[in-house]
Amino acid sequence: MSKKIVIIGAGYGGLLSALTVRKYLNQSEAEVTLVNQTPTHQIITELHRLAAGNVSEQAVAMPLEKLIKNKDIALRIAKVESFAVDKKQVQLSDGSFLTYDALVVALGSTTAYFGIPGLEENSLVLKSADEANYIRKHVEERIREFANSGKEEDATILIGGGGLTGVELVGELADELPELTKKYGVDYNKIKLLLVEAGPKVLPMLSDELIDRAMQSLESRGVQFLTGLPVTGVEGNVVDLKDGQKIKTNTFVWTGGVQGNPLVGESGLEVNRGRATVNQYLQSTSHQDVFIAGDSAVYFKPGEERPQPPTAQIAWQMGELIGYNLYAYLMGKDFEEFSPVNSGTLASLGRKDAVATVGANATQLKGMPASLMKEASNIRYLSHIKGLFSLAY
Ligand code: NAD
Repeated sequence: MSKKIVIIGAGYGGLLSALTVRKYLNQSEAEVTLVNQTPTHQIITELHRLAAGNVSEQAVAMPLEKLIKNKDIALRIAKVESFAVDKKQVQLSDGSFLTYDALVVALGSTTAYFGIPGLEENSLVLKSADEANYIRKHVEERIREFANSGKEEDATILIGGGGLTGVELVGELADELPELTKKYGVDYNKIKLLLVEAGPKVLPMLSDELIDRAMQSLESRGVQFLTGLPVTGVEGNVVDLKDGQKIKTNTFVWTGGVQGNPLVGESGLEVNRGRATVNQYLQSTSHQDVFIAGDSAVYFKPGEERPQPPTAQIAWQMGELIGYNLYAYLMGKDFEEFSPVNSGTLASLGRKDAVATVGANATQLKGMPASLMKEASNIRYLSHIKGLFSLAY
């Protein structure tokens, strides 16, 4: 009898699980249902470009229907309200329930606010195409408003958090704002584009040489860095920093970190700080009929103390392994072990600049070679999921 596979979340991990499992199991062997809250697969790693208006939405949000065409995958567009692994049940926002023989949890992560007072209520975030669109429109409105009001808070854009998300966003804004300000007759020099980082350095995963290179590139385009200064609270449009400074801004984007999706912690799965623990086959350590992909999982490479980072490249690899292991689980075959390959870190600094560490020898790249590598990495992914159509705009 046909088995039921339910995959919740169609980001990198979920989509790749669905596409891969179909290489091993046909429709008569397994029904595959893919659930996602939006009808699109979103390229989260490129959202900063949409937020600054440097790409069109279709380049970063692709119709799932098109990506899974002719694959015998049933698509349900609904939000997962909850899932209960002891009952083998997934509850959707339309009131319906799904049951399964095997479940893949690929719900990604949510923004971490670390209990900082007023932060969640008074900041924008960059986790979806809708949010990126919102930031783009909001920034334009503030510039337009500044042209009329001359209020400094309309000309102040603050990014909170200098990890990859924050730095990539500020780089795109630094490229886009000169044109946008010109459109509204505003002098770009009047715009304050600030990035505040709690730690001593932005992009702490890179070498000092690359960090310096990134900061110089951004500073030359008007970005001001405030490092070693945690955001401690936000009240309305006033952001408090640890040294007592108060920054008045009508545009505050919080990119200070991510955490596991709360539904995972509430599901009955064994978790470690809100992310589900998995064995070497990416199977839940508490429920053998559940596999976890991407940011919802916490996976430690044997012998390593820190888990694999919540990145797209790891989610992609997890999804593909799970696709195979679903087949192994349902057909009683041997599992394959997860053996992640980290191909490096690529940080774009706007349209024409980037810094990167790539390959097994951690080769450092700056400028055009790094930018091209970033572009190539995106194209490689799109080509893999047969999503290159998204670039034809
Ligand atoms: P992150 O956790 O990597 O960075 C958040 C930054 O915010 C940190 O530097 C942290 O010190 C800072 N921060 C935290 N609290 C703060 C406070 N109170 N005040 C000021 N600063 C504060 O988060 P991210 O950048 O969103 O990245 C999340 C994951 O996604 C990472 O694993 C990252 O590697 C991955 N990612 C990768 C890319 C890429 O490969 N190009 C792009 C974006 C994200």
